[in-house]
Amino acid sequence: MATPTLRNFVPPQHDAQGLGREIYALIEELYPICRSITGDGFRQTLRRIGQEIPLAVHEVPSGTQVFDWTVPKEWNIRDAYVKNARGERIIDFHKHNLHLVSYSAPLHRKMSLRELEPHLYSLPEQPDLIPYRTSYYNENWGFCLPHRQRLELRDEEYEVCIDSTLQDGHLTFGEYLVPGSSSEEILISCHACHPSLCNDNLSGISVATHLAKHLAGAELRYSYRFLFIPGTIGSITWLSLNENRVDRIRHGVVLTCVGDRGGFNYKKSRRGDAEIDRAFTHVLRQLGRPSAIHEFSPYGYDERQYCSPGFNLPVGCLMRSPHGKFPEYHTSGDNLSLVDSASLGDTFNLCMAVFHLLENNRTYLNLSPKGEPQLGKRGLYGSIGGRDVKTSELAMLWVLNFSDGGHNLLDIAERSGMAFGLLAEAAQALSAKGLLREVQ
Ligand code: ZN
Repeated sequence: MATPTLRNFVPPQHDAQGLGREIYALIEELYPICRSITGDGFRQTLRRIGQEIPLAVHEVPSGTQVFDWTVPKEWNIRDAYVKNARGERIIDFHKHNLHLVSYSAPLHRKMSLRELEPHLYSLPEQPDLIPYRTSYYNENWGFCLPHRQRLELRDEEYEVCIDSTLQDGHLTFGEYLVPGSSSEEILISCHACHPSLCNDNLSGISVATHLAKHLAGAELRYSYRFLFIPGTIGSITWLSLNENRVDRIRHGVVLTCVGDRGGFNYKKSRRGDAEIDRAFTHVLRQLGRPSAIHEFSPYGYDERQYCSPGFNLPVGCLMRSPHGKFPEYHTSGDNLSLVDSASLGDTFNLCMAVFHLLENNRTYLNLSPKGEPQLGKRGLYGSIGGRDVKTSELAMLWVLNFSDGGHNLLDIAERSGMAFGLLAEAAQALSAKGLLREVQ
């Protein structure tokens, strides 16, 4: 059986730039939708993803107990505004969905500025941006606006309307399994519960969708499970429903904030030395560009749930600029200009390189271990496509020396400092000449 390579995954016509443009185009389409942790905006988002990949959509009823949490009531929003005394909409949900605090309870009445004030949110330090606020787990309401606008509000009577429903319904999530030859899985998870925010939310969704689309055509060893879930409650719900199946997950990554122009940041799983942690570390080092590896902390995205001590799954988190560390984070500044197709295509390629490593990280046994086998007489000099003879020979020597059954190719890559891809090609060449045998 042929060992899958990156070439199997990425058909040559799909260059990173072209792909980046496709990934960006999906973000553009999803941007106007008002998503939340439940409701029709989330469903509409899944329907659009479902046009790219055959997504299974699950509905979990409100009130369902999931570990220490309860699936909340479903929230749906049609309209929300604040009108001034002249009847003008001075804050309008239809102009920007960030204007409304997510999960705001229904309301329609007149009030003074003094009554309205405690329900307004703005950013004095970033006076032109609308902040993103939520109130999922205690019933409340509120509006978000640029601080500059807030300072201009006069003491007059306002009409406040929130045409929402907050009632028993469902929590919705999407799931897609790309089957490989093994039932062992790689989990790719992203939250899809933020409204009009591009980097935090839509970048992960669109990169994951396109990864799924491309993996679906490849010859794979692992099965790849893609999850599109509401943050926190979604991963807790999924874990609760799949508790007896999580032992299939061999590697996993949460994708978020992967579309901006910053360098890569990878946060390790709680285990710290999982193969996925080592794979990202190796591939990022080989890229030779500024990037950072972070130790696990129990703060961040859904890796918090996958890495809770009762599961301790090998799941890390890939970001470009980390959450909370870029000024546009959770504001209207996280819009279509913050993300770009080159960065999105670049993230896609990084993920593919890591999957390629995991697919090909095998352990071999040197079948001629007494002294170095003679490479020349087997025609192995310069046999690795496009590399100079010295580099190819060095890669073969490293693979031969450490293929004692106790080291896999990633071990050898870490020890030698050579690129994994080169060692994998050396192993293929050596196997073809009968010098190596794969150890199961
Ligand atoms: Zn967020």
